[in-house]
Amino acid sequence: MENQIIYLDNNATTPMAEEVVAAIADANALFGNASSMHSYGREAAYAVEQARARVAELIECDPEEIVFTSGASEANNTVFSIFRDIIDLGSKRNRIVTTTIEHPSIVETVKFLRSRGYAIDEVPVDRTGMVSLDVLATYLGEDVALVSVMTGNNEIGTIQPIAEIAKMAHAVGAFMHTDATQAIGKIPVTMKSWGVDYLSLSGHKFYGPKGIGVLAARKKAPFEAFVHGGHQEGGKRAGTYNTPSIVGLGVASEIAMRDLESEHARLWHLREMLRIGLEERIPNIVVNGNQDHCLPGTLDISFPSAEGESILLYLDMEGIMVSTGSACASGSLEPSYVLLASGVDIELAHGSIRFSFGRYNTEEEVLYVLEKMPPIIKRLRGMSTR
Ligand SMILES: *Cc1c(COP(=O)(O)O)cnc(C)c1O
Repeated sequence: MENQIIYLDNNATTPMAEEVVAAIADANALFGNASSMHSYGREAAYAVEQARARVAELIECDPEEIVFTSGASEANNTVFSIFRDIIDLGSKRNRIVTTTIEHPSIVETVKFLRSRGYAIDEVPVDRTGMVSLDVLATYLGEDVALVSVMTGNNEIGTIQPIAEIAKMAHAVGAFMHTDATQAIGKIPVTMKSWGVDYLSLSGHKFYGPKGIGVLAARKKAPFEAFVHGGHQEGGKRAGTYNTPSIVGLGVASEIAMRDLESEHARLWHLREMLRIGLEERIPNIVVNGNQDHCLPGTLDISFPSAEGESILLYLDMEGIMVSTGSACASGSLEPSYVLLASGVDIELAHGSIRFSFGRYNTEEEVLYVLEKMPPIIKRLRGMSTR
């Protein structure tokens, strides 16, 4: 068990599945431009359309509703850009409602748009990171154009009641977007049953390639290109098709559908094994997020009187890779904004570690972490002046 590498940062990114790597290698040979009318072009276009059908099946929408993007950040930015445009054109609906714990690709977009004078409300969440429907209701009215709430949080794993929120958005005539990036392959994701108008996802969070994602938009939902140029994607997103990555995303979608149930159970088992084991071995720890509505592979824990960054570095020396707060906050000593927005106090937020499991983790790895973790925390707490 010594000198092994244990990757427990699957919410930051995942390794590509072998089947995905193989499919991309094959698709690299399809170098034709998928927009070309000759046979090389048509071969590539066929591969793109096959992948589109697989993604559509994964999230239960029509293939024509899928728009390939460079990732979920672009997909999220596209949605906010569509509504910025609608507001610019003088719509009486001129407010956007979102939450305080969205991914930075939304949080920073909100900051930017606010600095330009747009009215955007961020609904607060409770101690478990959950949006209260009663609180949300007080933000909704006839002036709201868009409601954007993420499906599952990347740091603490809290899963929001998206179908109920979509119903409330529609009741006041607003459109509904959800960033489902962390939910894909872990819980059932369905545009149809949830009734959402826009959904974002990203390939590299579920064993697909980096730099490819999707914005799915219902046919009745407004759409305006974020990237203008060629006629790709019916004019909704310009740029030559990234055929190999799109094919890889299609295969990743197929795997996610095939393994959904077994992976959900397996990830939750590993997560609970680690949670219970840590609670038994280390006094005074706090589990963050909502334990009843949680992504199965996410475990965020605060270790009072120990610094998250120090824990991370000590674990790294043992070959165990985890994260503190959001990946975007690492490198700085800012505590996680998601934890602060959930009302976790600043000292607890500073001592938080996110373990995120994926399809290649095993029980043996959990046992190894359970062996390495207690002495690290003991040592750091001994050094703490707090
Ligand atoms: C990773 C992530 C994103 C960004 O996806 P990219 O494809 O890397 O741009 C957006 N939202 C959530 C919830 C994520 O976890």
